Amino acid sequence: MTEVTVKRLSASAADFDVSLDRLLAWDDSVDHQVNESVRHILHEVRTRGDAALLELTERFDRVTAASVADLEISRARMAQAVAAIPAAQREALETAAARIRDYHERQKAPSWQYEEADGTVLGQKVTPLDRAGLYVPGGKAAYPSSVLMNAVPAKVAGVGEVVMVVPTPGGTVNELVLAAAGVAGVDRVFTIGGAQAVAALAYGTETVPRVDKIVGPGNIFVATAKREVFGTVGIDMIAGPSEILVICDGQTDPDWIAMDLFSQAEHDEQAQSILISPDADFLDRVEASIRKLLPTMERAEIIATSISDRAALIQVDDMAQAAEVSNRIAPEHLELSVADPEALLPAIRHAGAIFMGRYTAEALGDYCAGPNHVLPTSGTARFSSPLGVYDFQKRSSIIGFSAEGASEMGKVASVLARGEGLTAHARSAEYRIKDREAS
Ligand code: NAD
Repeated sequence: MTEVTVKRLSASAADFDVSLDRLLAWDDSVDHQVNESVRHILHEVRTRGDAALLELTERFDRVTAASVADLEISRARMAQAVAAIPAAQREALETAAARIRDYHERQKAPSWQYEEADGTVLGQKVTPLDRAGLYVPGGKAAYPSSVLMNAVPAKVAGVGEVVMVVPTPGGTVNELVLAAAGVAGVDRVFTIGGAQAVAALAYGTETVPRVDKIVGPGNIFVATAKREVFGTVGIDMIAGPSEILVICDGQTDPDWIAMDLFSQAEHDEQAQSILISPDADFLDRVEASIRKLLPTMERAEIIATSISDRAALIQVDDMAQAAEVSNRIAPEHLELSVADPEALLPAIRHAGAIFMGRYTAEALGDYCAGPNHVLPTSGTARFSSPLGVYDFQKRSSIIGFSAEGASEMGKVASVLARGEGLTAHARSAEYRIKDREAS
């Protein structure tokens, strides 16, 4: 029988702040050995390109190929995977992709400009990235939903080419991942992984094209490599362990809540699941459900460790205090399991995604609701947002002065430039001042 302990906190306790800080802390210690080997791998691929990529793929994924071209998977092969998977899976992938596409279409930001009275035009031109790289983990498990969540917004943004990398340890290709790439419209797929795949995307090799931004989750080698290549290319984020916070009024079936907490806990031992409620009896009932349901779970050991180490049931005085505690945590996923979630919503300021009402299981958001499942973790929802179309677009300022506007603003620029001691700036602006033209 799997043992589990369930922490109980009270938001009114004198030591609550300290207890909460302790609860939220996780092991993000930098592993110097990983840093070292990732730097070495990046250097190898940067300097030796395809040759290094082939050696590293053989070493870490046990895949031997004569050339990197042999590690590329064609669009025809992706289409073949779409056709070959069971119909139920194909329909689920297509439904999910259509909903993700529909949602993200609404995020497309248009270019804009306005004209001032003197004819000066100012604005912003929005353009997609030329090429995006998508890392899809493939070491221990396969994540077709990750393919959709990362590739669809890129395609909606109008990215010229989406290049996906996915390791195939021992040469085993995951058909569902390939099918997801086909459904999402990924342009090119290479079966490479780890830091060497990130390096190939960041620097380019003879065969793998260099991209402008790398998105997608991965293990410590992938995350460390993304951190290292940031600056050469853009990256989406460095995600921490997955988290869920449920605020419940005590009226939802406790089994539902326990399973929602498990749905994060089963990701990995460091995942965090928190329940907040003003109803102490309800917290008891959820704890009983946790103990009852745990033995029925396939990943009972992972869940038990995650719940014992990182979960908590927090009692609050009322919903206002629940929202306040939630804002301090700024969770990745927040379920408002209450009768009137709209009434609580205005009090919520920081969360990656907010799941409204008892029927909105976070798991629906993971796969097919439509909004992105790539969300800010570890409290970063205080300052960042879900992955979206905007992550694959960039903006250029548009500045177009009329003769009259250049003359007026030339005077302002001249004063400021002279104040900064930048004579060329000042004179460049002054040439365009009208009175000067006349004189
Ligand atoms: P992965 O593709 O991230 O890593 C596999 C690669 O790691 C291998 O191809 C290999 O090149 C490299 N590697 C392994 N051992 C190495 C070593 N000793 N030295 C150098 N390189 C080495 O797949 P994974 O390992 O299954 O990890 C997937 C990760 O992605 C998990 O941590 C999972 O939690 C995470 N994930 C997160 C999300 C999210 O949304 N946050 C979603 C899906 C997956």
